[in-house]
Amino acid sequence: MKRRTGMFCLLLVALLAGVAAVQSQPAQITAIKAGRLIDPETGTAATNQVILVEGEKIKAVGANLAIPAGAVVIDLSKLTVLPGLVDAHTHMAITYKEKPENNYYYLTYVMESTPLRAIQAASNGIQLLNSGFTVVRDVGNNALYADAALRQAIEQGWLPGPTVIPSGPMIGSTGGQFWPTPEMYKDHNIMFPEYIDANSPDEIVRAIRENMLFGARTIKLCIDCKPWGYSVDDIKLAISEAAKGGCLVEGHVQTADGAQRAIDAGIHIIAHGNALTPEHHRQMAAKGIFLAGTDTPFMPYRGSEEAFKRTVANLRDAWEKKVPLTFSTDFDYWNERMKNEKTGEWLTRGDLTIAFLETWKAAKIPPADILYAMTINGYKASDIIKERGPIKPGFYADLIAVAGNPLTDIDALRSVQFVMKNGMVFKKEGVMTPEKFFHPGPVRTPSGRWTR
Ligand SMILES: [Zn+2]
Repeated sequence: MKRRTGMFCLLLVALLAGVAAVQSQPAQITAIKAGRLIDPETGTAATNQVILVEGEKIKAVGANLAIPAGAVVIDLSKLTVLPGLVDAHTHMAITYKEKPENNYYYLTYVMESTPLRAIQAASNGIQLLNSGFTVVRDVGNNALYADAALRQAIEQGWLPGPTVIPSGPMIGSTGGQFWPTPEMYKDHNIMFPEYIDANSPDEIVRAIRENMLFGARTIKLCIDCKPWGYSVDDIKLAISEAAKGGCLVEGHVQTADGAQRAIDAGIHIIAHGNALTPEHHRQMAAKGIFLAGTDTPFMPYRGSEEAFKRTVANLRDAWEKKVPLTFSTDFDYWNERMKNEKTGEWLTRGDLTIAFLETWKAAKIPPADILYAMTINGYKASDIIKERGPIKPGFYADLIAVAGNPLTDIDALRSVQFVMKNGMVFKKEGVMTPEKFFHPGPVRTPSGRWTR
């Protein structure tokens, strides 16, 4: 026993020496010259700013900062620099298609494995980062924790991607969003992994603990996917259980009754704006409940004019009532019409995501408020605003640059020229340069709450 303790001490000393060696290497200093620097919190911009980045984090920001000798200088003096963008509700690891599924997503679950869907998610993450999305809330329909695996892989430094806030499988009362046949439901072989059935307080607690154990950073509940749904007490229980693991709760809502129950329980985010009434908006604003409206635009490849009019009217009313709005897409589909109309080239997942600006423009929401939703509210809804988002000392260096000024023309966001994530350059002069993000091992040990 003594010998073992001795060995352990030796090992510990060796490990600590290793840590010290890593820490003693001075972090690279990068100086970014920003022609214009936007603060989305105040909706203002300052000109000719310098941002000093040390390692992964921002060290200083100001107009007259001395640039230290040996610093790498990045000249963005002709561009506008701003925090990275947030898609507060999407699905990177499910893509249902016209062929072969005929847009019927039950078939995607049956035909595509978790590993294939995880690789799709990794590709989607890179495409989103390329369009300036440095944070993505990925909330369900991710097979067997493909979302949590992607978060881990990005955090450990295997590949580039946004900061992923994964929910793991959606938790719902019998059936989830499916209406499974008895054959599907038997032994949960097809139901799970897409949904976890939780029909009693004990099962709700267990499901939340399982998701957190397997790497979730938020909890997603089907509030009213079935007429039997969740009660106010069920939702309150979920909120208190999730809080034990530092997670906040989002509710999928598709009925007015479900919306009211989620609001009464004090949920953190309501997903999907379709079923919400002006009275719900009023209550959400009063309680500070975030809306991830998933406001689909009417495009050649998606939507209808009628649905779009409703979506625009709902988003407009939510904005007028001062609901905390996030930019959110619910993207989980693909078809062969998703091409640039002028060039005929395929649109990327980033292009398809930023196209949701059309809804916000149609709702005549001012650019500064759209930008606030895409950044500040996105960070708050993701519960990371204390570490990521604001371009201020001590925060992770996640920032993007565009030509033009998004505070007056929000479409400037459609052409992101520069992306920095965790202090590393992912894109410059409009071209991805992701070399520094790829490693054959886990080079980063994120300061997370748990090992997973
Ligand atoms: Zn969704």
